[in-house]
Amino acid sequence: MKRREFLKISSALGGAAVLPSALLSGCAPFPPPPGSGKVTVTPTVCEICFWKCAGFVHREDGEAWKVVGNPEDLHSHGRLCTRGTGGLGAFLDPDRLKHPLLRVKHNGRQTFREVSWNEALDYTADRLKRIAAEHGPDSLAVFSQSVGAQHFRTLAKAYGTGSFAAPDYAQCRAAREVGFFLTYGETIGGQERTDMANSRCIVLIGTHIGENLHNDQVQTFTEAVGKGATIITVDPRFSVAASKSKYWLAIRPGTDLALLLAWTHVLITEGLYDKDYVARYTLGLDELAKHVAAHTPEWAYLETGIEPETIRRTAREMAAHAPATLVHPGRHVAWYGDDTQRVRAVAILNALLGSWGRKGGFYIPEQVKLPEYPLPAFPEPKTTWRDAHGGKYPFAYGGVTNELIAQSSGPNARYKAWLVYEANLPVSVPAVADQIRRAAAELELFVVVDTMPMEVTGYADVVLPECTYLERHDPLRNEPRQRPSLAVRVPAFEPQYESRPGWWIARELGVRLGLEKYFPWKKYREVLDWQLRQVGSSLAEMERIGLKTFPRRNPEYIGAGEDYAFPTPSGKIELYSRQLAEQGFDPMPRYTPPEVAPAGFYRLIYGRMPAHTFSRTTNNPLLFQIMPENSVWVNPLTANDWKLQNGAYIRLKNQDGVLSNRVRVRVTERIRPDAVYLAHGFGHRDRRLRLANGVGASDTQLITQVKMDPIMGATGMRSNFVTFVVQEA
Ligand code: SF4
Repeated sequence: MKRREFLKISSALGGAAVLPSALLSGCAPFPPPPGSGKVTVTPTVCEICFWKCAGFVHREDGEAWKVVGNPEDLHSHGRLCTRGTGGLGAFLDPDRLKHPLLRVKHNGRQTFREVSWNEALDYTADRLKRIAAEHGPDSLAVFSQSVGAQHFRTLAKAYGTGSFAAPDYAQCRAAREVGFFLTYGETIGGQERTDMANSRCIVLIGTHIGENLHNDQVQTFTEAVGKGATIITVDPRFSVAASKSKYWLAIRPGTDLALLLAWTHVLITEGLYDKDYVARYTLGLDELAKHVAAHTPEWAYLETGIEPETIRRTAREMAAHAPATLVHPGRHVAWYGDDTQRVRAVAILNALLGSWGRKGGFYIPEQVKLPEYPLPAFPEPKTTWRDAHGGKYPFAYGGVTNELIAQSSGPNARYKAWLVYEANLPVSVPAVADQIRRAAAELELFVVVDTMPMEVTGYADVVLPECTYLERHDPLRNEPRQRPSLAVRVPAFEPQYESRPGWWIARELGVRLGLEKYFPWKKYREVLDWQLRQVGSSLAEMERIGLKTFPRRNPEYIGAGEDYAFPTPSGKIELYSRQLAEQGFDPMPRYTPPEVAPAGFYRLIYGRMPAHTFSRTTNNPLLFQIMPENSVWVNPLTANDWKLQNGAYIRLKNQDGVLSNRVRVRVTERIRPDAVYLAHGFGHRDRRLRLANGVGASDTQLITQVKMDPIMGATGMRSNFVTFVVQEA
């Protein structure tokens, strides 16, 4: 069945479950506190976002009670954030996937049928075998996110494909990783190596710590604020972080690079940079000085709207606190298509301040040297994700989701099958809605593994329900941080309904495909125990303590005057990048003014909120109670022009005519008049998600234009404009 109709699981199967009223009413859904029942405690690692805080699940008389942080954990310091605390909602969500589903034809119409695991797995394996024989195993593309993706990557590599894409690569932080790698030879990493607790000055550019609740980062930021650090926030919106700042620079959207170049100009022309650090460790100061000579604060004022004196004063303040000054590298940095270069400008600024490898700047992270479980060598795939890029993006280190999707339909389609793990492509990847529909019509196999009936499952041939993180083992957490540590996720509950752990699903498919040598264990706990024994622990010990910290092998900072070699081709911090020049790119960041909004349109900017992680949690019944919908932030001047009432529902229409769900107006001075703001993750359009469906507006849906970063393939998403539609709301 190649031409797939989009199926809504609840309507296809009929008989939707009733949502427990306790989850929605605000009454306490859990039993009384300990003392009145038998309490058991199980270690876990939170999966509600990618920060991976270690914690403990408490059950009372076998029932879910609460999840709390592990006090030994650097990621949480014993305190989970709002979302982590609401993690039980993922387990309790009555809308979660409960049974394997197979697309069938019934009375001439496509529908999903609940099937046994054997039938779902046999069907998938048979199709994969046929596709490998007819088109080669590298015709399988894998889209995956989160820690459980490792199981399916092992399966796919054993099968013989090399085409992997994680949507967060191109959409989130990869431009940052490449920008810093080109400059320092090292990346920032998923857990930012920012030493904020010791910072005396923190500069945030489009980073809204506090709304972006990466746990200990918020805690260390708060600590720095408490100790009187100077905070400089650059944002068209008065964010929570801006409210803690000495300086809020309400920059004209799209001009951040102009400000960064002007700050660089001030540091160099006023001789405020760390001369010893720059002379000892960097390469290219003369070229940089020439490059920024014309980028005066007066020049930047015309671009950014920030007064020259403010630019000078903030640059001097940064220098006064250096090297304990941190220009934060950001996280979601895929904005305008020149993102690697803009992040390079951040990296360069930090080098001038001497903050890399310094207390209060960027520490040197370490992780545990944890051996991989021994497996046979994987077959060499004939093609990989690099071939899907067609020679573009020479500095890419991962597959660009949009490119792999684009090559999944049409007469020369490279991909014939998709395996999608925990990646809700239609809602989370911008500007690909039509391509996904075309691919769904043509692919020979479309498999989705997920815990929830996300929109992507509506296109699948086979839906394989994974149990939630509270019901499964997963790979050990081993993140590079100030102190190396391992944390373990242990199931606190049996898998509910017919859901199964990802490791079990991947292994069962592997066995059916004749690939059991890549899964030489029966249960994943054997892998964990083997790995832990290599570093002097065991699963039995970790099931008790949850987290183990190991000693550092090297210092946390570069010593004063130390002869330190950076892992770049030159061994220096490369202010001037020969690597970029050799590939035909600007060796130093070059500013391009942003496009002008069409008349009557406003630039769409978007961001995080403390109660949710993207669109993944908006149906979580506990978190839904905290924040059920988003609103569109509109400046009073703009609201006045359009006669928009605070709290009224409107719709947004983008430059390509795409109309949003209805969304409430929030009239506020906290946003510039030339932009509007939406919290990301709302606007699901699927009845299967009974709480989130139709609630709020989706920024992703309105982002129909992306600007690709030619250096590494980031999908810049801030080049979209919206106007207001009042009558149709
Ligand atoms: Fe969970 Fe919050 Fe930690 Fe993310 S920051 S892992 S949601 S507790």
